[in-house]
Amino acid sequence: MFHIIQSKNNMLEKILLKNISRISPKYQKILTKMEIFSVEDLLRHFPFRYEDFRKIVLLSPEYIGENVTLEGKVIKTRLNRIFKKRMTITEVFVQDKAGNSFKAVWFNQPFILENLPEGVFARFSGKLEKENRIFNLKNPVWEKTARENTHTGCLVPIYPETSGITSRWIRWQIKSLLPLAKNIPDILTKEIQDKYNLYDLSTAFSQIHFPESWEKMIRARKRFAFEEIFLIQMKAIQTKKKWEREKSNRIKFDLQLIKKFLRELPFTLTDAQKKSSFEILKDLEKSKPMNRLLNGDVGSGKTVVSAIAILQTIYVGFQTALMAPTEVLARQHFETFVNFFQKYSFNIALLTSSEKKISFLKSSSSPFQNNFPKTDPSIRVEKKVTREEILSQIKNGQIHLIIGTHALIQKDAQFKNLSLVIVDEQHRFGVAQRAQLQEKAALSDDTDQKTAPHFLSMTATPIPRTLAIAFFGSLDISILDEMPKNRKPIETKIVPPEKRVAVYDFIRCQIKSGRQVFIIFPLIEESQKIFEVKAAVAEHKRLSEEIFPEFNLGLMHGKLKPREKENVMKKFKENFFQILVSTSVVEVGVDIPNATIMIIENAERFGLTQLHQFRGRIGRGNFMSFCFLFCQKVSSRLKVLEKTTDGFKIAEKDLKLRGPGQFFGSLQSGIPDIAMENLNNLKLIHFARAEAQHILQKDPELKNHLEIKKAIEKFARDIHLE
Ligand code: ADP
Ligand code: MG
Repeated sequence: MFHIIQSKNNMLEKILLKNISRISPKYQKILTKMEIFSVEDLLRHFPFRYEDFRKIVLLSPEYIGENVTLEGKVIKTRLNRIFKKRMTITEVFVQDKAGNSFKAVWFNQPFILENLPEGVFARFSGKLEKENRIFNLKNPVWEKTARENTHTGCLVPIYPETSGITSRWIRWQIKSLLPLAKNIPDILTKEIQDKYNLYDLSTAFSQIHFPESWEKMIRARKRFAFEEIFLIQMKAIQTKKKWEREKSNRIKFDLQLIKKFLRELPFTLTDAQKKSSFEILKDLEKSKPMNRLLNGDVGSGKTVVSAIAILQTIYVGFQTALMAPTEVLARQHFETFVNFFQKYSFNIALLTSSEKKISFLKSSSSPFQNNFPKTDPSIRVEKKVTREEILSQIKNGQIHLIIGTHALIQKDAQFKNLSLVIVDEQHRFGVAQRAQLQEKAALSDDTDQKTAPHFLSMTATPIPRTLAIAFFGSLDISILDEMPKNRKPIETKIVPPEKRVAVYDFIRCQIKSGRQVFIIFPLIEESQKIFEVKAAVAEHKRLSEEIFPEFNLGLMHGKLKPREKENVMKKFKENFFQILVSTSVVEVGVDIPNATIMIIENAERFGLTQLHQFRGRIGRGNFMSFCFLFCQKVSSRLKVLEKTTDGFKIAEKDLKLRGPGQFFGSLQSGIPDIAMENLNNLKLIHFARAEAQHILQKDPELKNHLEIKKAIEKFARDIHLE
């Protein structure tokens, strides 16, 4: 059937598709583009759905509208060309066993006739219709009766397609390659298979591509999900172990220092903040690097927790870096930290592409020495500097805290003794990025050995436990599951179109009493960014001219230059603008306590988590806040947001409703879909982790588990995990 140049040791992953002669160079090229090189790669190209064509029937009106498979003999064929539309219509008339006939119709597939001449017996699967008293199937899949059911008469797999390669082609190839699956080593032992009722690899391949039933298909998918999650966990545990072998600078916990800092704050920490801070300070004391995720809702007060870690680190003489995803957020952090450390003689720098400045205590002419906190009446001043100046001061250690965007700090900065890195508002921070930071690490005091900085990652939204374990298995996790007490609750309302006017009136009243408003046109998809900007521009015009002519309305969107953005935010902060019309760029981190109202347009299109995150921009001041979810049609899903402001609860609901892929959005691309499907399966994750742990305990180097070792290496190349 096909020829394989068998490698000597018969390792199947060596069977490259290019050695299979029936795959033509044209297809080889497409497969290479899809990063499918070996038989195993192709077998791991899983269907994303199935058509149920198992009903093999005789023609009858009772099946109209249903997916069916019909069998019969081709009695007549016809090819019509419609020149005006540059279209061909291929018609094949078929007679079934009972003598009734139907018509199969294809558009623009004239070549089908070559394979379906009169007299041939074949099966056709599609949706049965009846037009002008003739039964028909439009664009049915078909195959000759003599063939085994591959495209018809069964659960027919549908594959993610790239141009030039059809599901039909993939099915055909996979069907004939399936027998080779037996030779592919199975990384899950018989013991694990039995324990968790999982198919062996070969059965799983056959049931995921050509399932005998839905149940078997699900069982096959579960097996692959287990395998992926098992590998993710393996990798995570290994990474964790590796990090634990690294050396870092010990940062001694100074209770008096922290107490004093806390006394100076205008609020007291929540219990969750205290607990998390303590966990972090304890980590910092160790000579192995901290690798911790601070998992908390918007507004749960992650910043001050990070400030405590920063204070302690700088106090013992080391540098710290805080990395933010956007310039707006970096600047805001800069202001916050300057404020937190008003009286401390640290030099704090802001490094973004549009802004470079240093904040320092005026009286402290000398760079940092271990002689603070100072209590003299010196004041902080800011100085604009060049990029070169900042970089040189980071290098010579004059700057104690550098705040900037991820990209800049990672790319440019060389440190004297960087010992703590904080990454804010990021769901994921890859191993590669972390390694890059490692390069910048401090030399430890006593030896010349390189040390790794302690590392704290702060989430943009609360992540449900399952996902946190699955994705961040290499990190320790602190959770802020408690909101600061002073939070004014946010009243949330779903607003159908007919109630809009009433909301606009309400807004008018609120603005007259001094409040401010966000109106958000959130991003739908990256590809639609341009429409989003257009929509926001148009809406800004309409609102300014027709609805709120008496107020000033600002406009914010991604196409503005950093300067312009900054200017808009400044004017909003100063209440020159009462209303800010914005695309989703305000999603992250903007803190404007006087803005107490938020309108979100097209709310029904968004995930609960995203909506909750938008909503987190309000409710930050002393006034009651309101969030209005404008909908074209009211969706019951959104009611959760009316009922609760608990981010963890909302995230869990979101996870249940939309699955983890949606939950994380495009950020998570790279995690295999099959693993994604099962990430809300807490048990599966725990089992996979337990097995991974078990194996690594007995065989840390995986010397007796070479197949697993190889799989992890391949896997880690494909995706980046924490
Ligand atoms: P996030 O977790 O979203 O980063 P922030 O750190 O920005 O939240 O905190 C949100 C707001 O809450 C800030 O204005 C901060 O000063 C304030 N805040 C933080 N902790 C407390 C607390 N324990 N009590 C009162 N306000 C707090
Ligand atoms: Mg924050």
